[in-house]
Amino acid sequence: MAGSGTLSAFRLPPLPTIREIIKLFRLQAAKQLSQNFLLDLRLTDKIVRKAGNLTDAYVYEVGPGPGGITRSILNANVAELLVVEKDSRFIPGLQMLSDAAPGKLRIVHGDVLTFKIERAFPESLKRQWEDDPPNVHIIGNLPFNVSTPLIIKWLENVSCRDGPFIYGRTQMMLTFQKEVAERLTANTGSKQRSRLSVMAQYLCSVQHILTIPGQAFVPKPEVDVGVVHFTPLVRPRIEQPFKLVEKVVQNAFQFRRKFCYRGLGMLFPEVERVESTGKLLELADVDPTLRPTQLSVSHFKSLCDVYRKMCDEDPLLFAYNFREELKQNKSKNQEKEDDKEKHRL
Ligand code: SAM
Repeated sequence: MAGSGTLSAFRLPPLPTIREIIKLFRLQAAKQLSQNFLLDLRLTDKIVRKAGNLTDAYVYEVGPGPGGITRSILNANVAELLVVEKDSRFIPGLQMLSDAAPGKLRIVHGDVLTFKIERAFPESLKRQWEDDPPNVHIIGNLPFNVSTPLIIKWLENVSCRDGPFIYGRTQMMLTFQKEVAERLTANTGSKQRSRLSVMAQYLCSVQHILTIPGQAFVPKPEVDVGVVHFTPLVRPRIEQPFKLVEKVVQNAFQFRRKFCYRGLGMLFPEVERVESTGKLLELADVDPTLRPTQLSVSHFKSLCDVYRKMCDEDPLLFAYNFREELKQNKSKNQEKEDDKEKHRL
């Protein structure tokens, strides 16, 4: 990480409080957009400190809203902060912050789900994947319905080393509903172990670093909030395409409470299900009577490696979808019933 090249630390000049900004620009939280704001700057400072040393860093903040976390990031002596905010009502308040921090804050009125961060920061920041992480950080307190699809998209970007990871192993710190934060970090065998745990942990070192009680937000959300830090691993713990891993993991967790062979069986067409599931589990050396929550990342590595070989041998296998087969069987049965009915008449 880059050391401090600056002689004096930057501090924002005195500004209206976030509460005053909300009043001034009439920024009532939009319930339908799940907007919950952090007004306490000591808390936003604490959150930002957890992202690590941001001196001279290039930071991408997603969903800055009225700008609480934004202020704490600017006070952390960053080189540049780029914020992407979807709701245009927040832009004038952010502009006020930008005026108070000349040359440091870039504001984009846009959507994080489509914004291309890979072109936003200087090329010179790029590091080799095996090097220490670049001095580029992602920080965000997004609505829960955005942060979960976004982390899935970014995990796929980690596996392809594109998007925000064009700079190297860019670190991320994002908020989630507390239960989702627990799922992301859950160990093998724990109750919260899920598809998200495996998908995040095979690609990143994941830490649940802070829980923020719901009361800290205005308006108060129904649940507490977990802050999770992700650092992409130098070597993913499963070296297969993201979509293949996702398919195996999704199927394995299809029936969480049953033995794992039940869900994994859904990877195969009904006619060969029993035989192929047996082969998969035997070659991967995985006990069929483990529950999905008891499968470790190394179990998934073996399962994905064997499934990959099976897909290479049968090019139609990867496209197989058991829901499609169920649908087709249902409509065939319906046709038979209709024929019977016709003959009876
Ligand atoms: N970061 C602020 C804070 O902590 O007080 C605001 C948090 S609020 C939960 C989420 C913010 O993300 C809102 O300002 C909302 O408008 C913004 N947002 C929601 N969806 C977004 C998207 N797809 N792209 C960019 N911003 C989004």
